[in-house]
Amino acid sequence: MHKLFINGEWTLSQDGQHLPLINPATEEMIDTISAASGQDAHLAIGAAQAAFKSWSRTTPYQRATILKKAADYLREHMDDLSRDMVLESGKPLGEAKGEWAVAANLFEWYAEEAKRAYGRVIPTNRPDKRSSVIWQPMGVIGIITAWNFPAYNPARAWAAALAAGCTVVAKPSENTPLSAYHMARALAESGIPKGVINVVVGDAQSIGTAFLDNPALKKISFTGSTRVGKILMDGASKTHTKLSLELGGNAPVLVFEDADVDAVAKAASIARFRNNGQVCIAPQRFYVQRPIFDRFAELLSGYVSNLKVGGGFEQGVQLGPLITKRQRESVMNLLDQARQENARILTGGYVPHHLEKGYFFQPAVVTNLNQSSPLARNEIFGPVLPLFVFDDLDDGIEMANDTEYGLAAYVFTNSLKTAIYASERLDFGMVGVNEWAPHGTESPFGGWNYSGQGHESGSEGLYEYMEKKLISIGGL
Ligand code: ADP
Repeated sequence: MHKLFINGEWTLSQDGQHLPLINPATEEMIDTISAASGQDAHLAIGAAQAAFKSWSRTTPYQRATILKKAADYLREHMDDLSRDMVLESGKPLGEAKGEWAVAANLFEWYAEEAKRAYGRVIPTNRPDKRSSVIWQPMGVIGIITAWNFPAYNPARAWAAALAAGCTVVAKPSENTPLSAYHMARALAESGIPKGVINVVVGDAQSIGTAFLDNPALKKISFTGSTRVGKILMDGASKTHTKLSLELGGNAPVLVFEDADVDAVAKAASIARFRNNGQVCIAPQRFYVQRPIFDRFAELLSGYVSNLKVGGGFEQGVQLGPLITKRQRESVMNLLDQARQENARILTGGYVPHHLEKGYFFQPAVVTNLNQSSPLARNEIFGPVLPLFVFDDLDDGIEMANDTEYGLAAYVFTNSLKTAIYASERLDFGMVGVNEWAPHGTESPFGGWNYSGQGHESGSEGLYEYMEKKLISIGGL
């Protein structure tokens, strides 16, 4: 039984509830996890509040020593940690290792960045007055994260909040708690004082309500669906809890006629299906300029049909299972709706017959769709690539912007003029030009519109967990 981590102790939940942890590749139970409720969350918030008194007064140099040790721990234990991530999430082993490497980098990077939370001195209009602005840690932070990146999602928020001098109550997804527990262990082994990091996994609604209701918790950092983001926004309006929200996305990809068709098609077949498409910045809606559309569709379908689907430990596997049966059903429903609209499925779109157990799905490329199709409007979060055609630059940009989401967008062109024109007109928080990974540890990750508010990673991510304070001294 995996226990909760509260006030430096591994402990069972107050009400004794537990949940099964399922391997999505085999549908078998991996283990049982003690399931927290709001009661446990309140206890953890109390511990974090007590720990904040001293943690917030440590220097960023002291905090950096611990965070860097934790980064080293993650690197040293990468093989074991990656194995557990494959078990709980289904993702291929190589992707799990890559994710742990990034998680370690986040701890190291924020350990350094917190040393540079400079304030400023402001010249005043009175000779007897001096004004300065300083940054101070916000307090106890509740960090709720989704299952698609079991280490990366929590790491970027935990590392920034801890480096800023905040204490944390984390609620990772109940589908993928093992990676988060490994991270808590890394911090504990590195000497983090008790109560500074707490992890409660269990009844999401009850824990979420405790986070919103407890006045000691100053901010919720949330990575997950727009649906739950809205629930938190409603709740926060009553309690004045601050929010950072990394929500859904529906990223368009504009492929212009001057791009290298074969290279983009090949790279797209990898980028679209990374983590099975269960990525909020996943390139989703592909808009391809008419003169190259047929060739692009043919090449792409060829590459996609060769992708290897299977268990995450199997050599050469590129797509593991989806996270749950429900997630696979949601993808299948979207595809069924497209079929009824006479969409053409160029490849995939079925459960592979050799993989009866597990939530596997053969990656699909779909065409003959229009902008009102659910495959254009919804966040798919699965291995389906819808293809659309566009004629001129402005039509393409208009179609790309036709969504309530605003997280990431992608442009492929060999024209500098087109690259600048399109990237400046796309209504999204991140634009990749000839680049599938616009984000990075050192860069601000955040969405416009329904995709959220605030930023993670980069120096912006640090200030999400700090308050700005003006200090004015008079009578000098
Ligand atoms: P998904 O459906 O893709 O898992 P969610 O937005 O539901 O995405 O999940 C993201 C995180 O939010 C998970 O840790 C989940 O447990 C948590 N969560 C779900 N419902 C609530 C809620 N009502 N309040 C707070 N957190 C929630």
